Amino acid sequence: MALVSMREMLEKADAEGYGVGNFDVFNLELLKGVMEAQQALRAPVILAYGPPFEAFSPMRHFAKLMRSYAEETDLPVVIHLDHANTFEQVKLAVEAGFNSVMIDASALPFEENIQKTREVVAFCRPLGIPVEAELGHVGDEGMSDLSNYGFTDPSLAAEYVKRTEIDALAVAIGNAHGVYQRKPEIRYEVLDAVRKAVSVPLVLHGASGIPDQDIRRCTESGITKINIHTELLLSAVESFTRDIKAGANYYTIFENHVKAVRDRTEEKIRLFGSQGKA
Ligand SMILES: [Zn+2]
Repeated sequence: MALVSMREMLEKADAEGYGVGNFDVFNLELLKGVMEAQQALRAPVILAYGPPFEAFSPMRHFAKLMRSYAEETDLPVVIHLDHANTFEQVKLAVEAGFNSVMIDASALPFEENIQKTREVVAFCRPLGIPVEAELGHVGDEGMSDLSNYGFTDPSLAAEYVKRTEIDALAVAIGNAHGVYQRKPEIRYEVLDAVRKAVSVPLVLHGASGIPDQDIRRCTESGITKINIHTELLLSAVESFTRDIKAGANYYTIFENHVKAVRDRTEEKIRLFGSQGKA
């Protein structure tokens, strides 16, 4: 059994100054690619799965597959629920065997965000399951318009962490989900101020497409959990496109899909500095 606590995994990363990859997966190809990269580089990894994946790969089945891989390796793995919007989703994930959750109430007003997050912490804490939550609001679909972007307010961060008692804080510092429509601009003054305000590990969502030098700067500034999803999908699509043009058969397409995911995951693990840190 190599399932470990997300909180402990991130605290070790924080103390030693590297980032841990949170890789979103929902099928065997993505999962296998990430696990092979982990094995090759002896890195800690967070396997993440979000409620929208239910349509592709039902959680109750996929959780078993993730656990099976996690139990087989001697390296540290966390099985994390990404972006739960409801308490019910958290409960189902915990029942299915996840050992870490994110409750995302970031679209709600401050007090409601705190209330909803506290409810999840109250449920998870006695079970030893760490909780990540978000303050500010990380946008979707890249960033074409900054006017509605909800940067994390450093002056509220300490109160938020104290009142919710969360284990990790997701920040909105110019990062966004999906494919960036223009070059992302990370606001380091916001990140540095949040870092000063709180001591829990910080999380960067939407890290796919953020330039390497920015990712390095983020890990130096206290980001320890780095979420990658889009880039794994893009690497798979590139692989399919190449194979289909070449007239490859399905077995070859599958093999190359896994390899593309593994290669991209290895690149990210090296970038985050977590190789050999298991
Ligand atoms: Zn996210």
